[in-house]
Amino acid sequence: MERKVEVNAARLTEQLDALARFSDAPAPAVTRVVYTGTDLKARAYLKTLVAEVGLSAREDALGNLFARWEGTEPALPAVATGSHIDAIPFAGRFDGTVGVLGGLEVLRALKASGFAPKRSLELIVFTAEEPTRFGVGCFGSRAMAGVLLPRALAELRGDDGLSVLEAAARAGFTGNPSDVRLGSGCYHAFVELHIEQGPRLEAAGVPIGVVSAVAAPATLHVTLTGAGGHAGAVLMPQRRDALLAGAEVARAVEAAALETGTPDSVATVGVFDVHPGAVNSIPSRVFMTVDVRDTDLRRRDGMVTRIRRDTEELARKRHVTADVKLLNADPPATCAADIMEAAHAAAEAEGLASRTLVSRAYHDTLFMARVCPVGMIFIPSKDGVSHCPDEYSSPDEIAQGVRVLARTLAALAG
Ligand SMILES: [Zn+2]
Repeated sequence: MERKVEVNAARLTEQLDALARFSDAPAPAVTRVVYTGTDLKARAYLKTLVAEVGLSAREDALGNLFARWEGTEPALPAVATGSHIDAIPFAGRFDGTVGVLGGLEVLRALKASGFAPKRSLELIVFTAEEPTRFGVGCFGSRAMAGVLLPRALAELRGDDGLSVLEAAARAGFTGNPSDVRLGSGCYHAFVELHIEQGPRLEAAGVPIGVVSAVAAPATLHVTLTGAGGHAGAVLMPQRRDALLAGAEVARAVEAAALETGTPDSVATVGVFDVHPGAVNSIPSRVFMTVDVRDTDLRRRDGMVTRIRRDTEELARKRHVTADVKLLNADPPATCAADIMEAAHAAAEAEGLASRTLVSRAYHDTLFMARVCPVGMIFIPSKDGVSHCPDEYSSPDEIAQGVRVLARTLAALAG
C-alpha cells in the first residue's frame, strides 16, 4: 500500500478515555463485567462510533459484535480484526480496548485514505474475554469457534445463578445460540492488536511485537475436604486439615512448572478459599484454582497429568478427599507465517523495528485460530504491567500499532 494512512492518535486517546469512564470502579481503575449495565452502556457508546464510521453492524446471541466494511468482492472470505472491551475488577484501560478502538480507527483511516479493499474488512468485538463472571475465559470466541456449544452455555453459571444464555437474554441479546458458531471459510484471516502485558518490548526498545504462538491455558478446580473441629480440642494426630493438604498441592503445582526446565511452563494457584475461615476452627475444606500454561501442548498436558497425580497422592497422605475438575484445556495456537510476514513488512514500511515473540497470555485469537489463519500485533506495556490501574501504553505507541495493523489488514484484504 503506497498511500499514507492518517491515524488520529488524539481521537483514539479521547475514545479510550471515554470508554474507560464506563466503569464500576473509581478511575483510574476500570471494572467492566460482561452483561452488567456498565458493559451495556459501553457497548452502546461503541455502536455509535461504529455507525459514525459507516459500518454495518450485527450482534449474535451472545452479544459478539461484527462491524463490516463491504469489499469490492464481498463473496470472498473477509479479513477481520478485533478484541474485547470487558475488564476484570480494578483493571486498566488498555487491555482489549486498544484492539477494538484501534481496529475501528484502522477502518476509519483506511476509508478516509480512499482505499477500496477487495475482501470485506470486519471489526469483531468479542463478548467476555475475561473469565470474571462465568469462570471461563473467551466464552464469546469459544462459542464462535464451536468449542462451547449452546448446551454448555445454558449450563455455565455465574455466582448469581444465571447461565450465560439467561444473562445474555436479560442483556437484550435474543438471537439463536446455534447461530453463534462461525462457518468454516468465513474469514480469510484474523489479526488482533493488543498490549503486550509483559516487559519484553519495552526492555528491548522495540515498538512492535509480531506474535508467533499463543500459549494455551488449562484450568483445574480442586476441592479438598478433610474434617473440621475445635482448634484447641482436636489433637494433631487426629487432624485432617484441608488447608495443609492444599498448601502441599500448591507447592506441587509450582514444582510441576519448575521441573519442565523451560521458562515457557507456568502454573499458578490463583484462588485458595478456606472453609470455614475462622481463627479457632480447623479448615475442613479448601477450594483452589490451578492455571497451567505452555506454548507446547504435550508439555502443558504433562504438567496437568502430574498435578492431578500429585494431588491424589497428597490427599491420601493427609487423609482428605480430593475432587479435581478439568474446566478447560485448550490447544496452543500457531500464528500463520504469511500474516506474521505481512505484519513485519508493515512495521518496516512504517519505519518501526519489530520482533517475533510468543504470547504468554491467551486472547480471543486462540479460538479464532480454529476458524481461520491468525496473527497478533503487540505494542509495549509500561513496566510490563497489566490487569491493574497502572496499565499504560502511550498514545504514540498505540498509534504505531494501529498504523502497522492498518498496513497488515490492507495487505491481507488486497
Ligand atoms: Zn485482553
